[in-house]
Amino acid sequence: MFPHTHVPERETDDRPREACGVFGIWAPELDVAVETFYGIHTLQHRGQESAGICTTDGRKLSVKTGMGLVAQVFDEESAAELEGIAAIGHTRYSTTGASRFRNAQPILLEDPATSETVAVAHNGNVVNAAQVRAELTESGEVFETSTDTEVLAKYLLRQGDGEEDENELWESRFTALMHHIEVAYSLVLLTPGRLMAARDPYGVRPLCIGRVGGRYVVASESCALDQLGAEFLRDVRPGELITIDESGIRSYQAVVPAQPAGCVFEHIYFARPDSILDGQAAWHSRSQLGVELAREHPADADVVIGVPDSATAHAIGYSSESGIPYSEGLVKNRYVGRTFISPDQRLRDLGAHLKYNPMPSVLAGRRVVVVDDTIVRGTTTPRIVKLLREAGAAEIHMRIAAPPIRHPCHFGVDMATRQELIAARQSVEEIRQHLGADSLGYLSLDGLQRALGLGKPTCLACFTGDYPVSVQTDFEIDTLTVPLVTAPVPTSTNGNGASNGNSGGNGTRRGARSDETMVALAPERR
Ligand code: SF4
Repeated sequence: MFPHTHVPERETDDRPREACGVFGIWAPELDVAVETFYGIHTLQHRGQESAGICTTDGRKLSVKTGMGLVAQVFDEESAAELEGIAAIGHTRYSTTGASRFRNAQPILLEDPATSETVAVAHNGNVVNAAQVRAELTESGEVFETSTDTEVLAKYLLRQGDGEEDENELWESRFTALMHHIEVAYSLVLLTPGRLMAARDPYGVRPLCIGRVGGRYVVASESCALDQLGAEFLRDVRPGELITIDESGIRSYQAVVPAQPAGCVFEHIYFARPDSILDGQAAWHSRSQLGVELAREHPADADVVIGVPDSATAHAIGYSSESGIPYSEGLVKNRYVGRTFISPDQRLRDLGAHLKYNPMPSVLAGRRVVVVDDTIVRGTTTPRIVKLLREAGAAEIHMRIAAPPIRHPCHFGVDMATRQELIAARQSVEEIRQHLGADSLGYLSLDGLQRALGLGKPTCLACFTGDYPVSVQTDFEIDTLTVPLVTAPVPTSTNGNGASNGNSGGNGTRRGARSDETMVALAPERR
């Protein structure tokens, strides 16, 4: 019997981690809390540490939050106890603020202008949270959590002079917020009388709008609309505030959008394969990444397998382009949870075996192309290679459907620190040796952009180091204690002889904003 202790999932799964899913619905004739329960359940892949739902009955808010998976916090019956006409929900993975009940969302605050309660839920990571928190603390604000969400919310609620009507109050607040805090946030807010959704001026994290039976829904991903039978209307635009209340839906462009910087990892890994990103299902984008990977890094092999489940589409794309048959060769145990076995090396290896079981009938004596979507720290892949060799694979050719990750993310993705990133320290050949593979090929940056057909600028900073806004480059993940200082935008680096084409990027700073403009809420094609 193994001693059971809590080990971060990164010990058994070396992938970037998303930082929350948000959901909101205004539908007085529906059971909004139950709809929200299913909505955040569909967004479970974006965060598994805590879950919460808040409803309004038009006069007061009711909230329930808890630690764990959505289904551990709610069932249909307990969700239905939260009655109301509108609701917001949240699933959390913490990149800023510890994983504890107090930090679960939605959080509730009192609005000093209206004395109403406001509920806030957030996906993202505020790059200047420490600075804004210090400013607010200096002016007398007291914080109850260690999250950047509370920093955002408290900054927002301090704006406005109380002379405006409620629409003007919220619009002026969001304009002030977006001028002072540029990235990264997709937010949903609930007051007794309105549901609001807003996206930062760069649109780093996703947020979309849907319609069901004449009512409106907002969600981090379109898959959460599908499960309600809602029609996808469009993405919330960068810098836009959407307000939904009994009079319908309104759009307010709080600031002129900056150069778009949506996170490319939504395409590569985060979004559910059935979610629509930039007009295309993420599954198709991933398959196309596999096609480009096969063109750039062909292999003399007998079979193509993917590291389940997230690299399956990439592997199928590689197979279709190369003509090498695709097969499942690793079976993933989906029920290996986050509380796992002790972290010594022998038990880590056993942990990899518990999570992935190789199929000798597919692998024995064969030359195998193994497609994965990323390598972050290089901790899990050597164990997978070892498992495949033990199952009899004659050759193992690792193919990675993204460029080497050399820079940490400061915008809401738990990517590890720069020192932990294997590609920041080692060349591709050194990484190949570390993995124990016969060959290793990463997709180039050009190949990535070709595959995704990126029609607009996108954040590629973890590959290039060109962050869309200035960040403190030694800012450690998961802390609010380091004061943020403005640093020059770093330039692209490629100092370790890697074979990928690591050029370009989108380090454009935003220009001056013009006056606020109203934008009609026109449906867009899916
Ligand atoms: S740095 Fe990487 S993970 Fe972070 S937002 Fe940009 S593309 Fe996404």
